[in-house]
Amino acid sequence: MILNELIKETQKNQMVSTLFKHYKVESVKMKYKSMKDHAYFNVETGVMEISTRYKTLKTSQVKEFLITLIHEIRHAMDAKKYGWRKFKDMWEYEANMISGDHVKGKTDPYADNPHEIEAEEFGQKNWKQWYNKFKKQNLI
Ligand SMILES: [Zn+2]
Repeated sequence: MILNELIKETQKNQMVSTLFKHYKVESVKMKYKSMKDHAYFNVETGVMEISTRYKTLKTSQVKEFLITLIHEIRHAMDAKKYGWRKFKDMWEYEANMISGDHVKGKTDPYADNPHEIEAEEFGQKNWKQWYNKFKKQNLI
């Protein structure tokens, strides 16, 4: 590793910790995992998984990183609010309703799941303000 990589990794971790604190999900467990997506809140375990594939972020990856992380944080906020086991049941209930053809016009248990729509809107709505903030702080 060269110093520049160490700094970039630190900056990424600083963004993660700032967002976790801001959205009050500091108590959610995190672990590293090799995966394509930047982050994934595992509703089966209540653990936030962070990808090891992007130890440092390229400029072109920052937007997707922020949207994904904020989307997943929204799930973690819901899990904190309801308890993650209950939130898992709530998520699955909606998925099953869609799979069972009980929701008019909805066909995809994942993409049409109201919890997914809500989380994605949350990510899309909030990423830019954080982008600007982190940019000012020279984190990106
Ligand atoms: Zn999601």
